[in-house]
Amino acid sequence: MSLLTGKLGVVFGVANKRSIAWAIAQAWHQAGATLAFTYQGERLKENVEELAGTFGPDTLLLPCDVTRDEEIARVFAVVGEKFGKLHLLLHSVAFAPKDALEGAFLNTSREAFRVAHDVSAYSLIALARGAAPLMAEGGSLLAMTYYGSQKVVPHYNVMGVAKAALEASARYLAYDLGPRRIRVNCISAGPVNTLAARGIAGFTDMLKHYEAHAPLKRNVLPEELGATGTFLASDQAAAVTGQVIYVDCGYQIMGM
Ligand code: NAP
Repeated sequence: MSLLTGKLGVVFGVANKRSIAWAIAQAWHQAGATLAFTYQGERLKENVEELAGTFGPDTLLLPCDVTRDEEIARVFAVVGEKFGKLHLLLHSVAFAPKDALEGAFLNTSREAFRVAHDVSAYSLIALARGAAPLMAEGGSLLAMTYYGSQKVVPHYNVMGVAKAALEASARYLAYDLGPRRIRVNCISAGPVNTLAARGIAGFTDMLKHYEAHAPLKRNVLPEELGATGTFLASDQAAAVTGQVIYVDCGYQIMGM
């Protein structure tokens, strides 16, 4: 039996085949999970439809802008109707206005701060609240984060602050939901060349920097995020909650 046989999950954050969410969804699927997907707006529908369709023509696909409570409510209403229950949720969603991801952090506007935190951090709380009632058999919530939450990474700016809020939210959610056997963890990924990453000024240099300085002397592969995502989703990680697991070829341990 595979690690996730019989598990039902919902995935937020597939934009295209390079998305980290897609790498983790593929790994979850290969491990036996049945998945539903969400997409933000009509612009991405076709992309996600095509990818999700490779898991079978009946794969559930729903629109969800995570800043809209009514869309979140509808996702969990439909998932509840179709699946009856839920075990896994992947939060792989982040956004900050482009001009906040270059130049000085000092110039972060109130609006950029609000949007970054709403989309990238508050959404985990809103999704957890929607998912928890369906996770009567226990569950695993997984969110994607980055080391810019802990240390200054030039240009990452307000997204680093939002990721710090996301990681702290995961810990508070882990405390609230632990008695219901719902675990909440984050994967802190090294840089991966995706749509969102290309919005960060100097991203290509970041890839080179990791390759030169990480103990493993390379960048992380999407399938390696999938493998850790599968472990955290599975009962193998039944005693792991509230954690940030670094999947970054060891970069995080370096002082210099
Ligand atoms: P991606 O493929 O661009 O995925 C980001 C996703 O967030 C997209 O599907 C995007 O949809 C979605 N999103 C943005 N605003 C949203 C909203 N209001 N409602 C619903 N969805 C929304 O990039 P990615 O690199 O895989 O990012 C996934 C996660 O990994 C993010 O949390 C990111 O911070 C994290 N992460 C990435 C790296 C990296 O180097 N790539 C490293 C560590 C952590 P749209 O395209 O429509 O905006």
